[in-house]
Amino acid sequence: MQEPIKQDKHTVTEECNSCKVVAFENEKERNHCEFCGVSNCAKCFTQRREFPKSKLDSKGEKLLGNICILCHKKFLIRAVLISTNAALAKKRSLITKQIELKQDIAVKLRETSKELRESKESFNELATKLQSEVDLLKKTNDRKQKQSFELEKKVKFLRVRQNDLETLLHKELNPQDNSELYMAGGDDSYNFNRSRLLNFSPADVESGSFKG
Ligand SMILES: [Zn+2]
Ligand SMILES: [Zn+2]
Repeated sequence: MQEPIKQDKHTVTEECNSCKVVAFENEKERNHCEFCGVSNCAKCFTQRREFPKSKLDSKGEKLLGNICILCHKKFLIRAVLISTNAALAKKRSLITKQIELKQDIAVKLRETSKELRESKESFNELATKLQSEVDLLKKTNDRKQKQSFELEKKVKFLRVRQNDLETLLHKELNPQDNSELYMAGGDDSYNFNRSRLLNFSPADVESGSFKG
C-alpha cells in the first residue's frame, strides 16, 4: 500500500501548535496542517507547499497542500541542510583527491631522491677510481722522468769517455796528424778539439764515429 500524501489524521490542540499564543475557542478557528495534521491559528496557516511524494498532474506539477508555519520552516531548514551537506561532500571529495595527489607526489619525490642518491654514489665511486688512476699515472710519469734524466746523464758521460778514448787512439796511430780535430798546443802535447766531438752522435756510425 502506498504511503498517504496528505495528512488526514488531525491532532486537535487547545492552542496554536506554531505560535503557542492563540487559544482556540471553537472548532472553526482550528486549521489543520495537511503535512503534520496539528491545529494552527489563521495567522500561522497562510503558506502552501507541494507534497514531496505527490505524483505529477497533467501540467507536470505536484499537488499542493496547506502547511503550517512550523512545517514550512522545517522544509526550509531541510533544504538548507541538504545543500550544505552536498557542498560538504563535494569539498570532502576534493580534499580526498588533493591528499591522494600529494601522496602520489611524495612517492614520486622519494623515488627520484633515491635515484639521485644512487647515481651520486656511483658518480663518486667513478671519480675516486679515476683520481687513483691519475695519481698512479703521475707517479709512473715522475719515475720515468727520473729514469730518463739518469739515462741522459749516463749517455753524456759515456760520450765524453768515448771521445777521450778515440782521441788517445788517434794520437797513438797518427802522432804527426794535424787535422782539425787537433790544435797545436804547448810543448809536445796536442789539445783536443772537444766541441766538435761532443756534437757527434755515437749512434750514427757514418757521421758519429771518429773515422767520419
Ligand atoms: Zn498561531
Ligand atoms: Zn504542520
